Amino acid sequence: MTLVFATNNMHKLEEVSKILPSTCRLLTLRQIGFTDEIDETGQTLEDNSLLKARAVWDYLQTHPQTETIDGVFADDTGLEIPVLHNQPGVRTARWAGDEHNDAANRQKALRLLQDKDDRSARFRTVITLITAKDNAGSETSPIAAQVEGRVEGRMAEEEKGEGGFGYDSLFIPDGYSQTFAELPAETKNSISHRARAVQQLSLLLL
Ligand code: IMP
Repeated sequence: MTLVFATNNMHKLEEVSKILPSTCRLLTLRQIGFTDEIDETGQTLEDNSLLKARAVWDYLQTHPQTETIDGVFADDTGLEIPVLHNQPGVRTARWAGDEHNDAANRQKALRLLQDKDDRSARFRTVITLITAKDNAGSETSPIAAQVEGRVEGRMAEEEKGEGGFGYDSLFIPDGYSQTFAELPAETKNSISHRARAVQQLSLLLL
């Protein structure tokens, strides 16, 4: 089966293709010629993930491809910090300003948590799959399905580790004493929010 993953992020593509069944061929946005910026105007991760998947699905209806495409999926991830009323949530990428700036976002997290005893946090990823095939492979009208993956943990008091990206140097998953940026990539990729969401996605594809 061939699916479009609504991303051009090679790091994500590699992570996700390791988890999906090997029979699943993934195409990126670049490979299908999709160059539009998708405005993430939704109020929730669910809204934004659906909005991205739908934009790509709609594009495919007017831009036929040389190979048959069985579906499209998009992910959206948020960091939720209960003591900050689950902020930054849907604003995770642009928490410190309109530009996506990971270093400024991490500084903001450290500043807002400075005097807080409760540093618990979670990452949540929502994936939306749109397909027009049922499990037997027959054509149907388009169906959208959503799955979620989450990892609970806490925010470190200072940045630690060189690996990963985003908030990885601040996030310590439950059951570990190191941040995602300190842990080996294989460890992160076996317990992360995205890995867990993709495992759920695999179940939909069976
Ligand atoms: P996106 O929905 O995947 O674009 O993620 C939104 C924001 O969440 C990104 O800009 C990153 O800062 C952050 N983020 C997503 N996934 C991770 C992760 O695995 N580790 C750390 N930060 C992440």
